[in-house]
Amino acid sequence: SLYSEHMQRETQSKLSLINDLHDAIKARAFSLAFQPQLDHLGRIIGAEVLCRWQHRGKPVSPDLFIAAAEEANLIVELGDWVLSASCQTLARLRQQHLLPQGFERLAINISPVQFLNANFFDQLVFHIEAFDIPPGLVELEITEGIFVNDKQLVKSLIQRLVHHGFNVSMDDFGTGYSSLSYLQSLPIQTLKIDRSFVSNINNSAADANIVDYIIQLGHSLYLDIVAEGVETEQQREYLLSHGCTKFQGYLFSKPLDETAFIEYLTPDSS
Ligand code: C2E
Ligand code: CA
Ligand code: CA
Ligand code: CA
Repeated sequence: SLYSEHMQRETQSKLSLINDLHDAIKARAFSLAFQPQLDHLGRIIGAEVLCRWQHRGKPVSPDLFIAAAEEANLIVELGDWVLSASCQTLARLRQQHLLPQGFERLAINISPVQFLNANFFDQLVFHIEAFDIPPGLVELEITEGIFVNDKQLVKSLIQRLVHHGFNVSMDDFGTGYSSLSYLQSLPIQTLKIDRSFVSNINNSAADANIVDYIIQLGHSLYLDIVAEGVETEQQREYLLSHGCTKFQGYLFSKPLDETAFIEYLTPDSS
């Protein structure tokens, strides 16, 4: 039938993607992009690292290849490369004095499986020490989805990281398995408001209300709040007037490769 033919093609292309992913990981065929985060005065306060993969000449969506890497048990290896390469870039930027004064964090996405891996903490510490990075410059972005696992275990892993000086942020907040009562018991620093809420701020009262609520919740827990996916000046204004002072999105910059990111950090020096 048409349906099973379609399924077969899907399975086939997924299998070949996973196959190529294996090779790409061996060959270190990935790169990193950096998306600036800014405060209400337009000062750069940090950046998020986003993994990129050019496959047969075309970029593959990270949503797709990260999911494939998770499914194929390759995410720990890929995630470890992301950690190491992020530290390497951060070390270079520090050595060359390219980080602006208020640069607080490089945020790195961590998949649940990677986060829960028994070697994660040691690997992370190994990489920052190898590149002489202060842990306070590193923010680990996790999603609420992590809490389908043993909550106590997740909590103790977060505590261990924070105790060592790392920052932990809750990414895509409000889209997943929200555990509000639990949030207050976690020593995280940052809430990231998901793009899906931000993009509808100016045309959906419901989404605007959710954003207000997240901002208030964040303030009441003394958390930093970063809005992601800010594309328009109206969105920025709404967020700012409701108490969110940190932004990330196309309005300011798309994710940039290292060279373009350095230019962004040093606009005068070209
Ligand atoms: P995310 O962590 O929520 O990352 C934000 C996504 O929003 C990125 O998509 C970014 O390019 C995009 N974005 C930022 N500003 C805007 C905007 O103003 N408008 C729009 N339309 N999009 C914006 P990207 O790079 O495609 O990554 C997708 C997802 O893949 C990420 O979502 C994250 O969940 C995952 N991902 C990317 N890199 C890594 C990684 O190194 N490790 C892990 N575990 N996941 C990663
Ligand atoms: Ca993220
Ligand atoms: Ca996000
Ligand atoms: Ca997202």
